[in-house]
This record gives sequence, structure tokens and C-alpha cells, in this order.
Amino acid sequence: MADAHKKWKSHDQREPHVSLNNKKILLMGPPGCGKSTQAHSISVTYNIPHISAGRLLKDTRDVETEYGRPSDYMERGELVPNPLVNRLVHFRVNDATEFVLEGYPRNVSQQEYLEGVTEINRMIVLDLPEREILERLTARRICEDCGTIFNNDFSPPEKAGVCDRCGGNLYRRKDDRPDAVKHRFEVYEHRTRPVLERYQKRPGFVRIDATGTTREVWERIRSTIVELPAQTRSTV
Ligand code: AMP
Repeated sequence: MADAHKKWKSHDQREPHVSLNNKKILLMGPPGCGKSTQAHSISVTYNIPHISAGRLLKDTRDVETEYGRPSDYMERGELVPNPLVNRLVHFRVNDATEFVLEGYPRNVSQQEYLEGVTEINRMIVLDLPEREILERLTARRICEDCGTIFNNDFSPPEKAGVCDRCGGNLYRRKDDRPDAVKHRFEVYEHRTRPVLERYQKRPGFVRIDATGTTREVWERIRSTIVELPAQTRSTV
């Protein structure tokens, strides 16, 4: 299983003949479901920007604001206050004609805010049981330079603690400790699930089983994108 993860690289899957036309895709799901990895694949394959709320917040984690620093919330697995996140996301999606937005909205207030800023036409939710989330996150390691994600159980790096792609150091996120993971899952259940319930009544909403290998999940996601009605796609 580890080999299957390692050998596959989303870049090898680039499809020059398929492009999305004005697609605004949301990728949502509980912590550890693989949102960031899969959003990267969507971005590379279809050549659309990857906007990650978590990444935007990490880049500003130590900035002092009227609400404190984003890192004060992130390390505890709490949601960062809406005005801070909304501002960052607004700046990126405002004039964009296409993107894959990952990790946002995470509560109904953010969802309402987003609706006032742009129109989303594809909502993809990755489903993963809590037990598997805990297993995945406690073994997760991330490259501090390029952000590549490894898993010490399923997709370990060639050399322990070193990124295969760029040679950077791998670290464990503070909020990947078991107690913080549990709390993040509770936050997801209480705050984010109502967002999904509102989206699921709309066209363009799809749930994907996020168990299995990275590649298996990617194939499921890709098939839902290819299934978009023909008039919404163009060939280059
Ligand atoms: P992620 O990398 O998506 O797991 O996000 C890491 C952390 O950033 C989360 O646990 C939250 O503390 C914060 N965060 C990410 N996205 C949001 C959001 N949409 N709203 C509030 N906080 C967020």
C-alpha cells in the first residue's frame, strides 16, 4: 500500500485535453480527509488556482490582530474568527474566474459571506470516519519548505524526517496531537456539518468516500469532475 501511495504523483496525471470552464470548486471534509492533497491534484490537473484557507492562515499565523494571532486558535484546533478568515479568502476569490477552494467555509456564517462574494458551482465533500482520521493525522508529517504531506504508516518518506521532493525537514503539526485532533473533529461536526446540510440540497453537490489510497480517492473525485455537463467544459 505504501508503494501505491509513493509511486503515484498527481503531476503525472495532468490532462492537457480537458479544462474546466469557469469552474469554482469547493473541497470540504473533516480534518485529515486529504483535502489539501486532493485540492493540489485538482489544481495541477486542471490548471486552476488552489486556494487553501489553512495555508492562508498559516502564512499569517503570527500576525497580531484585534482578535489575537491566528496561531492562538490554530494550535488548539479552534476556528480562527470569521472576520480574519473572510478577509483573507475574499482577497483571493474576489476576481477569480476559477479555483479550487479548500477548507472554507467551515461554518454557516462563512458560507453566507462567501455567497455574497462569488458563486460556487461544485461542492465536493470527502467523507472519512473518525477512527481513520485519528490514525491518519497522528502519523502525518509535513514538509516545512514545500508543504508535501507524508504519512509514516501509509506513505513514508524515503529517509525519515526528510522530504522526498525538496529535501526539506518534515514536522508534525501541533494540532495533530490526539487531543487536538479529537477537538477538531468535534468542531467539524458542530460547526461545519450544518454547512454541508445546506449545500447538499443544491445542484453540484457531491459526496466522495475518502477511504483508501490517495490515488483511489483522486479517481473518484476526477470522475465527478469529468461528469460535469458538456456545455460547462471546453477542450484546449
Ligand atoms: P487545515 O489546514 O485546513 O486543517 O486548517 C488548520 C487550522 O486553521 C484549523 O484547525 C483552524 O484553526 C484554521 N482554519 C482553517 N480554515 C479555517 C476556516 N475556514 N475558518 C476558521 N479557521 C480555519
